[in-house]
Amino acid sequence: MSRGRRQAGARCFLASAKHRRQRLRRTICAARFGRGVAARHPRDRSDDYGPRLCHGRGKAVVRGGRSVRRRHSEHASGMTADVVVIGAGIVGAACAAELAAQGMTVEVLDAVGIGGGATAAGMGHIVVMNDSPAELALSRYSRELWLELAPSLRAADAFSRCGTVWVAADGEEWEAACELQRAFAGSGVKTELLDAAALHECEPSLAVPMAGGLIVPDDSIVYAPRAAQWLLEHSPGARNIRVRLGCEVTALATGEARLASGETVSGGLIIVANGLFAQRLVPGLPIVPKKGHLLITDRYPGYLHHQVLELGYIKSAHQTEGASVAFNAQPRPTGQVLLGSSRQFDTLDPAAEWPVLARMLERAARYLPSLPSLNAIRAWTGFRAATPDGLPIVGPAGDALPGVWIAAGHEGLGVTTSLATAKLLAAQIAGTRARIDAAPYRVDRFAQEASHGV
Ligand SMILES: Cc1cc2nc3c(=O)[nH]c(=O)nc-3n(C[C@H](O)[C@H](O)[C@H](O)COP(=O)(O)OP(=O)(O)OC[C@H]3O[C@@H](n4cnc5c(N)ncnc54)[C@H](O)[C@@H]3O)c2cc1C
Repeated sequence: MSRGRRQAGARCFLASAKHRRQRLRRTICAARFGRGVAARHPRDRSDDYGPRLCHGRGKAVVRGGRSVRRRHSEHASGMTADVVVIGAGIVGAACAAELAAQGMTVEVLDAVGIGGGATAAGMGHIVVMNDSPAELALSRYSRELWLELAPSLRAADAFSRCGTVWVAADGEEWEAACELQRAFAGSGVKTELLDAAALHECEPSLAVPMAGGLIVPDDSIVYAPRAAQWLLEHSPGARNIRVRLGCEVTALATGEARLASGETVSGGLIIVANGLFAQRLVPGLPIVPKKGHLLITDRYPGYLHHQVLELGYIKSAHQTEGASVAFNAQPRPTGQVLLGSSRQFDTLDPAAEWPVLARMLERAARYLPSLPSLNAIRAWTGFRAATPDGLPIVGPAGDALPGVWIAAGHEGLGVTTSLATAKLLAAQIAGTRARIDAAPYRVDRFAQEASHGV
């Protein structure tokens, strides 16, 4: 099925779901017995989190205005822009904004809409993670960039520096919390250990007893589809950006992107930032889908104060087969609670799977005992673009595709790492040094691993 049709399928599923609130206790029961539970908010208010597209202001050319058109038509060679970015998710938007801020003209092509892929489906938790030194370096750098950007964002972008609380359920997880604190301290990431009483004071809705927790106060949340729109339409270089929606790219050649309509768009550089579907344009990229479920409740202001995760989440996030669930809950600025998350391989079916949702909610209810009495209003799924080592691919596509660059494969951290990805890509394009080493994210690492028999 084409990308467009798959997205349409997902939207259809959500739209046809029954319009009613449902207590999570009933949701868990219904899910166990395979009955539908996902309900879309009856009023469909724009502040109800979940997959939704930002279509920009116009249809084809979203960035209108004389100066933009003049700048883009200056390319007498037939080139439409200095850079063509494929994909208007958070990663493509960040890359476009960064290059445009450096004075390049950028044409962004998206098959659907701004923030319409994984960006719309995800949780938008901006979190420093420590699975590998490269993950820590990229997520820490990118979180710094988000904190710098935050004052410029709008209320609708829903940025909040709410912090992360990692919950240790028992003594073993308490050890893991202490270890995480040591690793973060060594990298200058601010944290504080919480004993059981401090944890309870911090998050009174959590079950007692818990062994304790670790708070990371500078972690944040953002509504990523809106932030993508801000980057494309309001960031400092936005006048250099033109966005075209409904443009599916079907093939690449040097300096050219071919559209499904038959049109060819040419640019000095091509950036492939279309997430899971990057391998359709750059064959051989090692990217596979990891399906995830999320669910959002009605408004319960003050129910949670931080993004709260179980320490077992890290193990679950890096599982490479089967289905796993872990407790992950986010307080939305609206007072709603956004619940995640699951991970499944080998499927591109966008339907919510009730047994998986039931497992996810049962797990969450162990940590939040009053959760089953809350009303659920929507559930949905999305697909993370996963690479074998869990790191994104950022850099040149290789000798076979000169002038083509990749920014894809961000798995479950692409909102967090989008801004640093853009900096890394821009530095490589300019031939300058980025603030962190770009080597661990380049696609040639997989060739090196293969030649070393890894
Ligand atoms: C359930 C779930 C929870 C998540 N939670 C978090 C979280 O808490 N924190 C975090 O940091 N990350 C999270 N993520 C991951 C994050 O959402 C993604 O890594 C990130 O959104 C990827 O952005 P992207 O721009 O690379 O891809 P996408 O958002 O998928 O954007 C790709 C764009 O390319 C377009 N496109 C595709 N093919 C073509 C084509 N051929 N031609 C033109 N356009 C095309 C699509 O329409 C789409 O708009 C989560 C993901 C999921 C699924």
